[in-house]
Amino acid sequence: MASAPHLLNALKERNVRLTRQRRVVLDALAVSGNHVRAEDLLREGRKRDPNLDRATVYRTLAMLKEHGLIDELDLLHLDGRGHYYEMRGHQDHVHIGCTECGRVTELHSPIVQALLDEVASHTGFRATSARIEVQARCPECAGGNAREQR
Ligand SMILES: [Zn+2]
Ligand SMILES: [Zn+2]
Repeated sequence: MASAPHLLNALKERNVRLTRQRRVVLDALAVSGNHVRAEDLLREGRKRDPNLDRATVYRTLAMLKEHGLIDELDLLHLDGRGHYYEMRGHQDHVHIGCTECGRVTELHSPIVQALLDEVASHTGFRATSARIEVQARCPECAGGNAREQR
């Protein structure tokens, strides 16, 4: 998980000017972890600045995305039209989303590289990254059943 200093440095290198409210959004992103929604950032950011507005959160996310620092994921539309955001720069991974509570977890699996290799060998396309999303029920939402089946 990248930190706010990492993002701050990356933005400084790109000569991006940061308003105080944008810094608040970056801080909220750093403490919220991966797979956060704009709503989560708004809630977290308002602990630091009660006047933080939704538009600033969206504009900051759009700016970070434009600079290639975060990815926007729709994650099977688990959250309706809401999207999830995560910092760029870590290895491709599988996203597993709970269809009931919307919790998202990630799995680092060799299947991602295997898929890229298969794409290359079957199509000749040189695949550079892949997104794999799995719809599931998390252990809490599945209740006792999931544990019994193990
Ligand atoms: Zn769940
Ligand atoms: Zn992820």
